[in-house]
Amino acid sequence: MKYSFKIFSVFNIPVELHISFLLLMALIYGVAIFNLVPGVDLNAALLITLLFVTVVLHELAHSYVAQRYGIGIEKIVLLPIGGISAMEELPEEPGQEFRIAIAGPLVNILIALVCYGLFFVLLQSYPTIASFLNYFALVNVILGAFNLIPAYPMDGGRVLRAFLAGRMSYLQATETAASVGKFLAIIMAVVGIFWNYFLILIALFIYIGADAEYKEIMISTLLEGIKVKEIMTPQVRTVPPATQVEELMEVMFQNKHMGYPVTDGDNLLGIITFNDISRANKGDEKKPVTEFMTRDVIITHPEEPLNDALAKLSQANIGRLPVVEDNQLVGIISRTDIMRAMEILKLKK
Ligand SMILES: [Zn+2]
Repeated sequence: MKYSFKIFSVFNIPVELHISFLLLMALIYGVAIFNLVPGVDLNAALLITLLFVTVVLHELAHSYVAQRYGIGIEKIVLLPIGGISAMEELPEEPGQEFRIAIAGPLVNILIALVCYGLFFVLLQSYPTIASFLNYFALVNVILGAFNLIPAYPMDGGRVLRAFLAGRMSYLQATETAASVGKFLAIIMAVVGIFWNYFLILIALFIYIGADAEYKEIMISTLLEGIKVKEIMTPQVRTVPPATQVEELMEVMFQNKHMGYPVTDGDNLLGIITFNDISRANKGDEKKPVTEFMTRDVIITHPEEPLNDALAKLSQANIGRLPVVEDNQLVGIISRTDIMRAMEILKLKK
């Protein structure tokens, strides 16, 4: 995620703070130290800090269980509305998903139990600390219970999908869980209008998240088993390195393709796109395209699964991948090709 900073790593998982989170914490401590808002004192600031420590522990529990199932964890990012564990893939086995999802809320319940235990021990001798612990335990119970609301992609929603996935296809289970999630998000937003605006923010987060994850899973299910060679354009229009900018513009105008591999014989030197030459200034018309092309080209292979190629396109935020086999350019595949194939596949199913 942009604008986040790594603070430490646990189990090889980097924990990052988003800038908005840092600003929020600075604001809370500023308000507490200078007594700007009645009720927000250092005790309240400490409670909020502890709350976010709990959120990290909650996310670490998800990540730890996921790692045990061989799922890579990119990082944990802390935002003002909570934490996100960025997993490299989602578990498809319902049992695994259930255990990964339930681990987070279980940590909250565990913290609550420990705090209640300490509350009774310290009640007589340290009443202030005891009442703080009592409050913190309650906060954890609320946090754990809130996360178990079956609003996908919240933990409870993942538990719901794991439950459904045992009874229907993974895609159908996701679709149902996402619909339930969106429905609950709408209710949450309405409740939020009358009760707490913060809830509206969370509802929005759930609604968008449910939609995005469902689409992602729908795409990867549709494209499963399909290889790059089945969709790529085999006869690639390439341009030689000496091509001038104005010549390329003419080629683009005639072919209506916005990107071309630059090749010297069969040798791929780079890729030149409309975006690249739109950076050219007046007077650059006669310059060779090699001055504007991208040289470190991300490539794919004819046998590569389409899902992996799509992931490469998304991660690098690019439009097309040259298909290379034995150091030879054999085709090109664009995001548009994949989207078009997907539309057809949707109709076939
Ligand atoms: Zn969670």
